[in-house]
Amino acid sequence: MLDLLDGLLTLLAPSRCPGCDEVTEGGDAFCAVCSALVERTTDPGAVFEYGGPVADAIQRFKYDGRSELGAALGSLMAVHAGRWAGKVDAVVPAPLHWRRRRSRGYDQAALLARPVAEALGVPAVLRGLRRVRNTPSQVDLPHGERQLNIAGAFAPWRLTGLARVLLIDDVRTTGATLGAASQALRAGGVSEVHGFVLAARVLGQAA
Ligand SMILES: [Zn+2]
Repeated sequence: MLDLLDGLLTLLAPSRCPGCDEVTEGGDAFCAVCSALVERTTDPGAVFEYGGPVADAIQRFKYDGRSELGAALGSLMAVHAGRWAGKVDAVVPAPLHWRRRRSRGYDQAALLARPVAEALGVPAVLRGLRRVRNTPSQVDLPHGERQLNIAGAFAPWRLTGLARVLLIDDVRTTGATLGAASQALRAGGVSEVHGFVLAARVLGQAA
């Protein structure tokens, strides 16, 4: 019965590869073609190197309104989050400013955080931080200006009692965003912050 239901759901909304958008057979990961192209990173705080199908997937997810990709991409992160099992009390996403969330309709880091938290058996504290400044997109800025742009952009919000946090974002380039978010978490009483992103972009690499 469950198989039948699953089959019907697949017919209604077939799962698509986040990288190339082709319909895939069962499963939420990249298709065979994209799987051969994605690059895992040795960086312990990231799953993939930014580029190829991973960059395409993130582009679709963030800028083409494809919020449903959050579940698939978040599940990929969850698979690689094992190193933090039993070592964090909660998963907290680096949030968008409410204006940007409203225009996009969703907050991508929050969608990624949910499956990771579920896999680790800890709460996803989606309102742990809040973005107090609506900063220009980091993507449009030279690397040297990113730190200045993002400094003080986050503030602690609802963090009561959390000591160890896994901080989630989609992409890390200079680490300026994660750094600013970590600072806010520490200001809110968190003693240990680990950053975890879907993709790490190498400095100087084109967007
Ligand atoms: Zn694909």
